[in-house]
Formats: sequence, C-alpha cells, structure tokens
Amino acid sequence: MNALLELYNGMGISNAVYNYGENALKKLEERFAEIDKIAECNQAKVISAMQKNRVSATCFAATTGYGYDDMGRDTLERVYADVFHTEAALVRPQITCGTHALTVALSANLLPGDELLSPVGLPYDTLQEVIGIRPSPCSLAEYGVTYRQVDLLENGGFDYEGIRKAINEKTKLITIQRSKGYATRPTFSVTQIGELIAFCKSVKPDVLVMVDNCYGEFVETIEPSDVGADMTVGSLIKNPGGGLAPIGGYIAGTQACIDRCGYRLSAPGLGQEVGANLGLMPSLYQGFFLAPNVVASAEKGAIFAANLYEPLGFRCVPNATESRHDIIQAVELGSEAGMVAFCKGIQAAAPVDSYAAPIPGDMPGYDSKVIMAAGAFVQGSSIELSADGPIRPPYAVYFQGGLTWHHAKLGILMSLQKMLDAGLVKI
Ligand SMILES: *Cc1c(COP(=O)(O)O)cnc(C)c1O
Repeated sequence: MNALLELYNGMGISNAVYNYGENALKKLEERFAEIDKIAECNQAKVISAMQKNRVSATCFAATTGYGYDDMGRDTLERVYADVFHTEAALVRPQITCGTHALTVALSANLLPGDELLSPVGLPYDTLQEVIGIRPSPCSLAEYGVTYRQVDLLENGGFDYEGIRKAINEKTKLITIQRSKGYATRPTFSVTQIGELIAFCKSVKPDVLVMVDNCYGEFVETIEPSDVGADMTVGSLIKNPGGGLAPIGGYIAGTQACIDRCGYRLSAPGLGQEVGANLGLMPSLYQGFFLAPNVVASAEKGAIFAANLYEPLGFRCVPNATESRHDIIQAVELGSEAGMVAFCKGIQAAAPVDSYAAPIPGDMPGYDSKVIMAAGAFVQGSSIELSADGPIRPPYAVYFQGGLTWHHAKLGILMSLQKMLDAGLVKI
C-alpha cells in the first residue's frame, strides 16, 4: 500500500474515494499545466516589480503613529502599481476588507448629483447597502449619489443597447463586478471586461470605470487594469494577500483616482502620507510574493471538485471543463443534508478547528439559514480552503481557496467521503 493512501486512510478517507479522485486527476494534467504556466507568468511579474522597486529588508520595518515617510508602505504601493500596470496604488492594512476598499473607491470618486451605473446587474450583497440599493445609514444614496442598473441579457451577455441608454450626463462612474459572487451568472473574463469598458468609454469618454476584482487576481495573466479600468479593487484576505496578509485591501488605478482614494481613506490634505504599517509589511510583501502560486492551488482545487462532483450528477458552476476567471466553485448538492455533509468534510480537513462541526445558522443580511466551513489561520480568509452557502434551493455550496493544492485536494476528497458516509452519493 502506498504511504499517501495509508495516511489518508488514517484520516478517514476510504480507498474507494481516493481511487475515484486519482482517476479524475488523470484527465486534468493538461489543465493543471496551463494553470502552472499562468502562475509562472504572474510570479515573474511580482518578482520583477519587487526588484524594480528595490525591495529590501528596510521595507519590512514596523512604523507607528502617523507613519510619515513609511518606506515599506510606499514601496509596496509601487510594487502593486507595477504589477497592475497602473500609475498608482493604495494598499493599506487600514482598509479593513474588500467592501471597505470598494467603498473608499466609490465614495472618493462620486460627488452629490453624480450617478453610479452597474451594467452587469445587481452588485455583491454588501455593496447593496454601500450604494443604498437597500437603504442604509451613510450609503451613497444618502449623500445624493443616484444609482442605475442594467441587467445582463438572458444568455448572460451584456445588454449594450440598454447600457447605451442608461449612460447619461450624470453618469460619473461605472462599476463592474468580475466574479459572480453568490449569483448564478458566469464570471467575466478580463477580455470581456475590456470589451465592456471600451463600449462604455465610447459612449462617454470621460466616465470612470471601477472593477471589483475580488477572487480574480492572478487567475489570468492580465488584470482589469490592463484593459482600461480606472480603478481595480480587491481584498488582501483573498487572492493578493497570498494567505499571509492578516488584513487589508488595495485599489490600483490612475493617479487622479488614487489621490482621491487616499484623501477619502485618511483625510483631505493628508491622503497617502499618513497610515502606519504596524509591523504588517513582512506578511503583505511575502503574501503578494506567494499569491500567484496560492491562486493556482486554489484554482486546481476548484477544477478538481467540479471533476469529482459533476460525473456524480451534481451541477457545477463553472462546469468540469469550462475556462475559469476566478477561484470560486459552486456545487449544487440538491439538499440541506448534502450541504452539511460537504461542509463537514471541508472542516474536517482543515489545519485549524478541524474538530468543529459546521451547522446551518441565521446570519445578518440573509433571509435563509447559512452554513459555513472554514478552518483558517486568518479569520474569515477565503483564500484559505472554505465553503459556504444559503440553505435554500438549489442547495449550492460555494467553495474556494486552498493555500496549497494538496490541502484543497484533501478537503474535497474528505467532502466526498462525508457525502458517501451519509448515504447521499454512490461512487
Ligand atoms: C468578497 C467579495 C466582496 C467583499 O469583500 P469582503 O472582504 O467580504 O468585504 C466584494 N465583492 C465580491 C465579488 C466579493 O467576492
């Protein structure tokens, strides 16, 4: 018996599940090789940006108080700007999460009387309160920023005619969400986003475009900033933090937009000049350095899962063979019991809190119970292997992450084992 199988057996994975997994893997060699090529390209991009900006041990020193002349912070921002090919970037631990980064980008660049347009349907749940689609104190709506939305066509494509009609003299900023979030639409490729940006700018050349890049960083060799986005925004406890960043967000974009984001984040007049790094620079740099490979691992896990579950009759989005533009995998398990078993497996395979049993519970902002599995080093980090979903038809779990491919693989095998143990599937 091989050593790996012996170890897996000891952790509760049966020979049947292991062999089923190995069979599925045989067909994935070519795709994994493609992913490795993309990772190699992105790794070179990151290293070359670090070299160009002369990253040194001095950059890792902690600063406190105002953080004036924080060399580590300023250099990291130039590294991000070079990787995203933008004039500037704001990369800060003071940006508390992805929603905060998006809020800074929007509120810095929209003034009373301006209109915000989403040409890709309803934005991510938390953004709805930021914009004021769901009334909320301090929303953009309260400050006199109006909002317009154009839904995607039945076939998932952009409604170009609708978008042309929706752009008017008040339209100041267009927001495009790359990843599907909890929606069922496909995630957009960077090329598709580029086409949409070009169209919007052909209708109104001076309109600003922001792309919510959450979960998309390093999945392709280009980013939305390479295809015309004025601001590209994301969270450091997702892809670009590489699992090491304990907090933070980034906005990469034009100097004019980023200057305003700096003033909004701290204060008018102060901007990017203040903001101590609190000793977090080593993990922000090293996380960004690791990120291309971490993203590749997560993506392999997502593809492996689709190739395990789809042949068993569970609908997977994206499906087992289609191309990918983010690290999210949805698996429709068809029942609450299925979701519980799946999440139990992800939890049981975690390095942290593996003894906990996830159960469905109420969550603020959701109208149905939600189940979540995560055994993460960083609380809520979804670049680490994690799964969640609302308990309602089609009973889909959204799962993502995996700092290493081997952990992602173990988690997915364990999920299938729990499904099998519960009598919910036959292999
Ligand atoms: C995660 C996510 C956000 C919000 O990020 P938080 O860090 O959870 O606030 C916004 N948009 C999309 C598409 C996301 O996936």
